[in-house]
Amino acid sequence: MPGSVLIPVLGDQLTPTLANLRGVDRADAVILLMEVMEETTYVPHHKHKLVLFLSAMRHFAAELAADGWRVDYVTLDDPANTGTFTGEVARALERHSPRAIRAVEPGEWRVRAAMDLWADKFPCPVTVLADDRFVASLAEFRDWAEGRKALRMEYFYREMRRKTGLLMDGDEPAGGQWNFDHDNRQPPVKGLQAPTVPRFAPDEITQEVMALVERRFPGNMGSTANFGWPVTRAQAQAAADAFFADRLERFGPYQDAMVHGQDDLFHSMLSTSINLGLIDPLDLCRRAEDLYQQGRAPLSSVEGFIRQLIGWREYVRGFYWLHMPALADANALAATRPLPAFWWTGETDMRCLADCVRSTVDDAHAHHIQRLMVLGNFALLAGIDPRHVQEWFLAVYADALDWVELPNVSSMALYADGGVLASKPYAASGAYIHRMSDYCGKCRYKVSAKTGPDACPFNPLYWHFMHRNRRLLEGNPRIGRIYATWDRMGEERQAETLTSAEAFLASLTFSSPPAGQDDDFK
Ligand SMILES: Cc1cc2nc3c(=O)[nH]c(=O)nc-3n(C[C@H](O)[C@H](O)[C@H](O)COP(=O)(O)OP(=O)(O)OC[C@H]3O[C@@H](n4cnc5c(N)ncnc54)[C@H](O)[C@@H]3O)c2cc1C
Ligand code: SF4
Repeated sequence: MPGSVLIPVLGDQLTPTLANLRGVDRADAVILLMEVMEETTYVPHHKHKLVLFLSAMRHFAAELAADGWRVDYVTLDDPANTGTFTGEVARALERHSPRAIRAVEPGEWRVRAAMDLWADKFPCPVTVLADDRFVASLAEFRDWAEGRKALRMEYFYREMRRKTGLLMDGDEPAGGQWNFDHDNRQPPVKGLQAPTVPRFAPDEITQEVMALVERRFPGNMGSTANFGWPVTRAQAQAAADAFFADRLERFGPYQDAMVHGQDDLFHSMLSTSINLGLIDPLDLCRRAEDLYQQGRAPLSSVEGFIRQLIGWREYVRGFYWLHMPALADANALAATRPLPAFWWTGETDMRCLADCVRSTVDDAHAHHIQRLMVLGNFALLAGIDPRHVQEWFLAVYADALDWVELPNVSSMALYADGGVLASKPYAASGAYIHRMSDYCGKCRYKVSAKTGPDACPFNPLYWHFMHRNRRLLEGNPRIGRIYATWDRMGEERQAETLTSAEAFLASLTFSSPPAGQDDDFK
């Protein structure tokens, strides 16, 4: 249709009320969805992540077409596919000769940099609208951050509570407290068993995508055989219904708990659906608030859940755009070690790490504390180069998008920004993991041993980390007193501790990421 408006919709913009679709006459528009090699290969994505994105895009295209939109869908297998968004928009201009392009800002810096060139490159006007699926606009976050030395999530979160009215009694927080984090740190009780999380049997569209992914990306992590993530709006709603019915109540208390072989516990497992745009995070918050108001869910769980969504999720997005592109290269602790090979395979005697990597390989998922206090903590203590860690997290998790992954990995887990996001590094010895999990009992290492070949590696690594970063961390009021403990240990024990840590680090082996796509398609 010559003279229409071309509306590109990216893989994480699968929302019928997206800003560039609103107020547009269906008869006057062509929606463009593009599967491109650049997006499927910029890191070696887990197979579940690839299936999730491509299947959800294909389902969304069908939903739009059924709703009367004209949809132009470019598949990865299209022989003329140029492999990039810019190349595909250029080809679409030839097919449709639109009078204008109407896009929504992408979530990632890399894609935004490419989109910013469209206005000069293409003959028709290009409008890039703000992505208003967030509570705070980027300008609002910038205003909030202006002039603040440290950007603490808690204060931003309170602003978001006030703005949305969620869990507010007038000007005061419901229950008299903004934050129930202290109630939400229960270790798992023996025999703790969480309800099963729904999985969705692949339909014909998903099966086609699974075959495509196995054919083109045979060496990537995981297997499509057990794919069960929600790929449609209806499935995402069903997943949310199950969370509210079965798991929200104990979400709070067990938010930080870890149980061997139970990968989901009481977590919502909704991040993939939220990040793709299949489900609205604010709707989820309102549903959780309703359950609290009806007396069907405790305030500590509801507040904890809402804090993740309008607190952390909104905050890391604002933080990302405020600090990019420098954030991607931040390395305040000068960490240079490559990623150990077992991060790709799970083959390690460290039972906690083996379980977290196993969950990751199986399902492209690990829950927050596994990511932060096992994987992230290990990478921090072992001094692994943030760029390698970022790339791994971006590749292996089905919910990983640069804007949410990077601040979580770089600033939260690795302290690579030197303390802009976190007031102190999330560094912990084996005692923390022992307290919050059932991992240590059957581990080949002894969590109570501090040094020697049988000692839990987290124990000497913790002190090795503190010792080698003393200059940077000693002045931190939240860390400083730890050095008094270190100093009291005496030279002999200190030397033994450092030698144990170094022996462990020297035993690590390293490997490159798995091969990626089939050579025939490179
Ligand atoms: C090192 C590290 C890397 C991470 N990488 C990602 C990532 O790539 N993509 C991603 O979506 N989340 C990431 N997170 C945040 C969090 O771990 C996941 O959102 C969560 O595990 C997803 O599972 P869930 O839906 O069951 O979450 P729940 O525990 O049920 O939490 C509810 C929702 O809150 C949001 N949320 C919770 N914590 C965070 C957070 N720290 N930042 C942003 N949103 C949050 C998510 O949308 C999540 O679905 C990362 C955290 C860490 C520590
Ligand atoms: S003993 Fe150490 S390595 Fe083993 S599971 Fe516990 S924390 Fe992990």
